[in-house]
Amino acid sequence: MTEIWILVAANPAIDNLVSRGRELGGQLVAVVAGDRSCAEAIAASGVDRVVWLGEPGATPVEARAAAVADLVAEAAPRVVLAASHPAERVLAGALAGRLGAPALTMVSSVRLEADAVIVTHATFGGVAEETVRVEGPVVIVDECGSVGTGLPVPIEEVTATAPPTLTVVETRMSSTTRVDLGKARRVVAVGRGLARREDLALVEELARALDAEVACSRPLAEGLGWLSRDRYIGVTGQHVHPDLYVAVGISGQLQHVVGCRDAGTVVVVNCDAKAPYFGECDYGIVGDLAQVVPALTAALA
Ligand SMILES: Cc1cc2nc3c(=O)[nH]c(=O)nc-3n(C[C@H](O)[C@H](O)[C@H](O)COP(=O)(O)OP(=O)(O)OC[C@H]3O[C@@H](n4cnc5c(N)ncnc54)[C@H](O)[C@@H]3O)c2cc1C
Repeated sequence: MTEIWILVAANPAIDNLVSRGRELGGQLVAVVAGDRSCAEAIAASGVDRVVWLGEPGATPVEARAAAVADLVAEAAPRVVLAASHPAERVLAGALAGRLGAPALTMVSSVRLEADAVIVTHATFGGVAEETVRVEGPVVIVDECGSVGTGLPVPIEEVTATAPPTLTVVETRMSSTTRVDLGKARRVVAVGRGLARREDLALVEELARALDAEVACSRPLAEGLGWLSRDRYIGVTGQHVHPDLYVAVGISGQLQHVVGCRDAGTVVVVNCDAKAPYFGECDYGIVGDLAQVVPALTAALA
């Protein structure tokens, strides 16, 4: 019988992976690198088997990637699924390397043929889709799901092959707060049009007036470091779908726009009337953000 393996680092929200595995048929085996409570949640989430590496103790779950890869590689499954959480992606990458298999993301469909796996997935950040034929094992990194329910199955504890060489020696609260922009109903995003870091206050005031989260284009987070990396939108950043997306001083390059294509109403503020974003928005304001943004904030107040 075909085995579909599911990689779990520490996040038990795998109902979409279980559904995907059920569509493919065969037995669903989850391997869990996280703690017992995670393994118990997985055991009651609709899978057929749970293989657990035992308590991670002071070892971060990502550091068990080699052990997970060894275990799954031994079973030689054709399809392996993982949710798109940071730690799960580490496990998926390690396993793909171990198997010499492709790791595919943003997948919309998977089909088993006698001698191949047919996968359709998005490319260019969702602008296009391609269908590929994989004649060997494939690792699929899928959307994050919710915690599912099912008849509990026993947890099979195994001993990790290679003990990790890494332990946590100190844990401190991060000085930056993490945001979940995916849940935001309103977002005000700012780009390189912002001349000085101090001017971020203008954008933050507008966001406050709109009860919105602040986001940005990649250069502000990765190059300038004016906002944290979890706030940049785009193909390599966050994907958001708010009711309202206000883009201030952002040119509208494809790599940015694909991250907010599902937004409801899009408002663009840019001093260049030829900025590409004006071709993608519902409302466009041509003007200097230093004047337009405070005026919008005042009007909202
Ligand atoms: C592989 C790859 C992946 C990438 N992934 C991402 C991604 O995920 N997200 C992302 O955002 N980018 C990404 N990029 C970068 C992307 O290509 C663009 O370079 C980036 O989005 C541009 O950011 P920006 O619009 O803020 O800056 P710019 O393109 O420099 O635009 C600044 C805009 O501000 C306007 N402006 C200037 N002054 C003012 C003013 N006073 N008032 C109003 N408007 C003003 C200008 O007219 C201009 O349109 C990626 C690039 C690559 C190569």
